[in-house]
Amino acid sequence: MSTATRRRDAPLTNPPGRLPRPAVRARPRAVLGVIGIGAAVAVCLWWHGTPSLHGFGDLLTNAGRITGLEAGYGVIVLVALMARLPPVERGVGADRLARWHAMGGKYVIGLIVAHALLTVWGYAVTAHTSVTSQAWTLLDSYPDVLMATGAGLLLVMVGIVSARAVRPRMRYETWYYLHFYTYLAVALAFSHQFADGAEFKSNAAARGAWSALYIAVAAAIVWYRFVTPARQAARHKYRVLSVRPEAPGVVSIMIGGRGLSALRAESGQFFRWRFLARGLWWTSSPYSLSAPPQRDRLRITVKASGDHSQALRRLKPGTRVIAEGPYGAMTSAARRRSKVLLIAGGVGITPLRALLESLPAAPGDLTLIYRVSSMRDAVFREELKQLADRRGAKVWFVAGSRTELDGNPLADGELTRRIPDLAEHDVYLCGPPGLTAAVTRELLDAGVRRRHIHHESFKF
Ligand SMILES: Cc1cc2nc3c(=O)[nH]c(=O)nc-3n(C[C@H](O)[C@H](O)[C@H](O)COP(=O)(O)OP(=O)(O)OC[C@H]3O[C@@H](n4cnc5c(N)ncnc54)[C@H](O)[C@@H]3O)c2cc1C
Repeated sequence: MSTATRRRDAPLTNPPGRLPRPAVRARPRAVLGVIGIGAAVAVCLWWHGTPSLHGFGDLLTNAGRITGLEAGYGVIVLVALMARLPPVERGVGADRLARWHAMGGKYVIGLIVAHALLTVWGYAVTAHTSVTSQAWTLLDSYPDVLMATGAGLLLVMVGIVSARAVRPRMRYETWYYLHFYTYLAVALAFSHQFADGAEFKSNAAARGAWSALYIAVAAAIVWYRFVTPARQAARHKYRVLSVRPEAPGVVSIMIGGRGLSALRAESGQFFRWRFLARGLWWTSSPYSLSAPPQRDRLRITVKASGDHSQALRRLKPGTRVIAEGPYGAMTSAARRRSKVLLIAGGVGITPLRALLESLPAAPGDLTLIYRVSSMRDAVFREELKQLADRRGAKVWFVAGSRTELDGNPLADGELTRRIPDLAEHDVYLCGPPGLTAAVTRELLDAGVRRRHIHHESFKF
């Protein structure tokens, strides 16, 4: 028997031993609080540098200064949200961070546009010139304004390609790599803030603090997005051990590595995986752990949904892998109540399969509902049954199309009929957006508090 086969068949439980230190998690409200305080400090900077206002032109110019300061602050916050800081990733969760980033992006672009328009208009009113001639003067004779305008246009371009109407028409990779222009835009706009911002020209402390903020975020990006994955790859030496079919179009990939407990990965989390094989190495895709992490191996389960995921079934044992993570907040740490309901739709079963095995729960307190279009598509059927027996958990497969089932079997009061004490549960939810939205509504109607619904989206 080959090493790969032996490892694949080994039981999916950790040998006893010393547990790794618990990981630090930032609370979402605390993160929002810190962001809010930063925004207030930016307004204080303006207040400090503005003794009085004279006339309409001055009013407009100062509105331009405030929006400029908030835009300069907002853009670095947007970058920081995507810096993959481990405590933030664990505490807030990658999908919530992505939502904050997308929503914040709209505000920041609005602030940038408002800053440009208000400043030009304010200067034009004060100088009694037309807006167009004032715009030309600013571009031509004010230091770094031309570069900042280029930066603003780049950010607007990134905003347009991220808009809901445009994004689905692009390849994921095209959209992703266009996003890198944000870094260029931030760099281009930086000097403009010091060269033209009245708050910074005469305030060395403000310049120092602002620079420190930008440098800290840049260092976090370089460290967590580039150096850490390279260090982890060198340290853990990830390799594909085996690839096993699970259901039509679905394979499980076992990945071996050294000293994996140092990662402090948990069931419910995901990694971004880059397989160093021909045609695959240039893309990294997020896949959740489909079994609790082991000291020497991790398992993911992938449904073929595009070129990249389709190609993974052909991976050869021994293929080297770069894994970035762990990420995600849908872990046992999010749980508040003794009863737990796991609801999976389709391939959303992967993180919930891992949680079913490792969430601490008394027999009878753990229930899994697994929605699939047909029993043929159900992944881990045997594993789920064995786990249910071992843990005293209830597992319900809900199979069939909506027409066959006469509507959504997890909406319209159906969940409450199945689980009368639904409101006493923590609910972990992972599935397609339509199912997730319908189930969340149903749960809220049934009295489950929003903070007891833990959710991971497979779409950023
Ligand atoms: C947190 C998370 C966990 C996931 N876990 C699993 C899992 O356990 N099993 C599973 O089968 N699928 C999982 N997915 C979905 C999986 O990442 C995509 O289906 C896969 O990347 C599709 O890639 P593709 O190139 O084959 O398909 P494409 O046709 O190129 O992409 C299909 C769609 O997948 C999304 N996608 C593609 N690449 C990425 C990327 N790098 N980052 C984010 N989204 C991307 C995009 O929305 C894209 O429109 C997960 C996604 C996320 C965000």
